[in-house]
Amino acid sequence: MKTPLLAIAAVATLAMASITWAEGPAATRFGSWGFDLAGRDPAVKPGVDFYRFANGQYLQHLAIPPDRSRYGMFDELSAQSEERVHGILEHASTTPGGTGDEAMIGAFYRAYMDEGRANALGARPLEPTLARIRAASSRSAMAALMGLAPKSYFGGFFGPSLDVDAKNPDHYAIYLSQGGLGLPDRDYYLEASFAAQKAKYQAYVTQMLTLVHWPNAAAEAKAIVDMETKIARVSWTRAEERDPAKIYNPMTPAELAHAAPGFDWNAYLAAADLGSAQRLIVQENSAFPKIAQVFADTPVHTLQAWEAFTVTDAAAPVLSQPFVDAHFEFRSKTLSGQPQQKPRWKRAVNMISGQVGEAVGRLYVAQYFPPEAKAKMEQLVENVRQALAARIRRVTWMSDATKAKALDKLARLGVKIGYPDRWRDYSALRVTADDLYGDVERATAFEWARQVARLNGPVDRGEWGMTPQTVNAYYDPTKNEIVFPAAILQAPFFDPNADMAVNYGGIGGVIGHEMTHGFDDEGRQFDGQGRLTDWWTAEDAAKFVAQTKRLGEQYSAFEPLPGAHIKGDQTMGENIADLGGVLLALDAYHMSLNGRPAPVMDGLTGDQRVFLGWAQVWRSAQRPDSLRRQLVTDPHSPPEQRVNGVMRNVDAWYEAWGVKPGDTLYVPPEQRVRIW
Ligand SMILES: [Zn+2]
Repeated sequence: MKTPLLAIAAVATLAMASITWAEGPAATRFGSWGFDLAGRDPAVKPGVDFYRFANGQYLQHLAIPPDRSRYGMFDELSAQSEERVHGILEHASTTPGGTGDEAMIGAFYRAYMDEGRANALGARPLEPTLARIRAASSRSAMAALMGLAPKSYFGGFFGPSLDVDAKNPDHYAIYLSQGGLGLPDRDYYLEASFAAQKAKYQAYVTQMLTLVHWPNAAAEAKAIVDMETKIARVSWTRAEERDPAKIYNPMTPAELAHAAPGFDWNAYLAAADLGSAQRLIVQENSAFPKIAQVFADTPVHTLQAWEAFTVTDAAAPVLSQPFVDAHFEFRSKTLSGQPQQKPRWKRAVNMISGQVGEAVGRLYVAQYFPPEAKAKMEQLVENVRQALAARIRRVTWMSDATKAKALDKLARLGVKIGYPDRWRDYSALRVTADDLYGDVERATAFEWARQVARLNGPVDRGEWGMTPQTVNAYYDPTKNEIVFPAAILQAPFFDPNADMAVNYGGIGGVIGHEMTHGFDDEGRQFDGQGRLTDWWTAEDAAKFVAQTKRLGEQYSAFEPLPGAHIKGDQTMGENIADLGGVLLALDAYHMSLNGRPAPVMDGLTGDQRVFLGWAQVWRSAQRPDSLRRQLVTDPHSPPEQRVNGVMRNVDAWYEAWGVKPGDTLYVPPEQRVRIW
């Protein structure tokens, strides 16, 4: 239920000189005031392609590192985070007598880096798991194995998660969502444009089953892909899943069993440690009976083969070389176009940050997050909050009654910066240097147990949904809060020594983006207390929807790859947030001038530098397979459209650059989308 700034995919890598605060604002890379002037392409007119006008030379010389599917500013900072965490893990793993978190992550790292041991063990660590699958000879037994998914390598046709109850945000609730697909999205099964990937998926399933000596691997692989295709057909689209009211369907377990027969829900819930649950929130409710029917119609031996493949696929990165290689070839190379496997230490960093991220984050912020950054950031956030309040008061389409509630929501918006006040306690988690497979499983189970244990307790308002070393940010509608991890508070997003216009265009735009999420098509359905409830007059809501519809049409017209368009409905919330982000960044910059004229730097006005600041943080290159995957799986538009798609709706951008009718990005004033 969190809305991140960009997809939380496993992104990683490229060794680079680390930029530390002590060295100042990385003056050589981002010019003397925070913007890379040499990276522009002055031959491109701003009104024709603002993204390339701002970034063209940089893009022309940008080579995506072979162990990545995308590279740009976010990735560059992620790579730096990765280097820093690497140092922390190396130190932890070689420091004798360490205790607590440091000893734990040190052991985890030693376990991951022991490639010799992983290779010697082969498929052996999987054996007990596979034996359980072989022994599960009934559908009820298979449903029970699927219930183990949140605390093990097992997978399921349905996925439980524990989160704040959207209609009762002082309590947690159990959510159940559709699942069962091994490809990134239902489109991969159903669209002809993905036929090649689907065929390679079937070969991959065969390969994995063969590696674990599963009987009739090729025939079962075909049956598995056919079965998943049936699931894909009845699954909701990502756009449909974006409606918070539609995915809120509370039921008792008995009601669910009645609505979706053919699946042993009692066995499933008991295995997930949710056997005593009285209330479940079923998300894609109309898909549940159909997926349960697929389960009931499938021979048990195929369900077993599916589960055998699923655990092998999930565990492959921690097994021996043949598993690691097969997993990379399909998951990273075929699906995202990444030519080369990442070195093992980078995979270790990602795994450990994913499993026990706060133990790493605690050491990360001690070394890399200067306390003064927090105070400066707090000031920026308050300026952007004031800018949004002014916009809410100013908009002409909204009634005073709805405005009062929107302003109340904005005033209650919480802000978290840097890192949590209270760190996760991992002291009860057992990690050993000689059992990587077990370490990952125990860490997964440990996290699930933590969540189950607090199910009936109060909501932890201090909890973070991202680690400090993550280069990202998010809005959480049920907590009505925006969160900025330490690692994004660096140049070129945020540099206290750079020009304020560039800072507002960078981190100011990010702050505005996250704040706007509270008022996008999803977020607007939650009130100031984080409660899913309709606080809008019908007329105001209708006017909002009319504007968003036009924004959706604009984005759906973009075709980043031949034949592959942006999905305007899937990306709606993010596109609204990007537009709000840039407008608020500009307003907040103006307010920060306190009536003084903006300085001109290198011939560029203050407004121009705000727009360039936003364009600079999005500069990046992406491999075509990765871009194609993003278009069907990601709620965010690609970086190029996160710049060009926004600017064309901003009046001040036309004035700043003299954009005229006839320019490619030009939209007549009456057709520009005006939401916030
Ligand atoms: Zn966002």
